[in-house]
Amino acid sequence: MFYNRSMPELPEVETIVRGLKQRIIGRKIKKIWTDWRKYLRASGGENALRKCVIRKKILKIERRGKNILFSLSDDCMLLVHQKITGHLLFGKWKSVNGKWLSLKSGPLREDKINQYLRLILFFDNNEALGLSDVRRLAKVRFGPTQTIISLPEIKGLGPEPLEPTFYYKNFKALFNNKRGRIKPVLMDQDFISGIGNIYADEALWLARIHPLSRAEKLNEAQLKRLYASIKRILKKALALHGSSIDNYRDVSGRRGGYDVVRYAYQRTGEPCPRCKQPIKRIVVGGRSAHFCPKCQRH
Ligand SMILES: [Zn+2]
Repeated sequence: MFYNRSMPELPEVETIVRGLKQRIIGRKIKKIWTDWRKYLRASGGENALRKCVIRKKILKIERRGKNILFSLSDDCMLLVHQKITGHLLFGKWKSVNGKWLSLKSGPLREDKINQYLRLILFFDNNEALGLSDVRRLAKVRFGPTQTIISLPEIKGLGPEPLEPTFYYKNFKALFNNKRGRIKPVLMDQDFISGIGNIYADEALWLARIHPLSRAEKLNEAQLKRLYASIKRILKKALALHGSSIDNYRDVSGRRGGYDVVRYAYQRTGEPCPRCKQPIKRIVVGGRSAHFCPKCQRH
C-alpha cells in the first residue's frame, strides 16, 4: 500500500516552485538545521551543505520533472525531490522544547502534515524554507551547478509536457522505439517528465485508453487524444494548485484542489463521471491503476 501513496507530480511541484519564486528569490541563507543527516550524505554531509549554501543568495528556482533546482550565488546548486511524503514550506519557526513551532497561525501550525520538519534553511530575515517529510524519503543533493545538472536523473529526463514547444509531433516521436503498457510508459521520467500515478490515471481516463494498452499499438487517434488529455489534465491540476490526496501541501501549508474534482484516480467503485459505470482498480507494474471498464476498453 505504501508505494501506492500519491507523490507530488508536475502540478504539485510546479505550484511549490511558483510559490517559492514569489517569496525567496534574492534571499540570503544564514543557517541550516536538520535532524536527518542521511538526506545530506550523498552530497558530502552537513558541513558540505553549509559550505555550499551559507551566505549564498537564491538567484533562480526551476522545476525539472518532479525535481526542484535552486541556483545559488557562486555557482552552487541545491536539488530537492520531495518524493513520497515530502513538501517544502515557507514560514517562520521557533524552537520550543526541541520542537519547531510556526510563528504564523493557520495550516503551518494546525495541519499535522506540515509539522514533520526535517531540514530548514533560515534566511537573513529569519524567514525560512522547511522540508516537512513524515517518512524522511525526500532526496536532497547539492554542489557545483554542473555536478547537479549532470546527475543521470536530471540529464536523462524526458520532455516537459507543458512546454509550449512540446507539439503533437514531438509526443508522437517518443513512441517510435517504445514498447510496454501505456500506464508505466507515461510514468517513466525518461520518456516524459513530471507524470506519476495520479495524472497518468487521469489522462488515460480522459483519453479513453485502458492502462494496460500496449504503447506500440496505440493508433493515431488515440495518441492525439492522449497528447491533448495530458496537457489538459496537467493544466487543470496546476490551476487548482495540485492534489492533496496524501501529504502534499503548497508552500503555505494549504491543500490543493484537484483531488476534489479528479475523475478516476482512487475512485474505485464510484461512478465514472462520463458513463456511470463503477471505476475499477487493477495493478500494473506494482502500482494501482484506476479506470472505467466501459469507456476505457482493452
Ligand atoms: Zn465510463
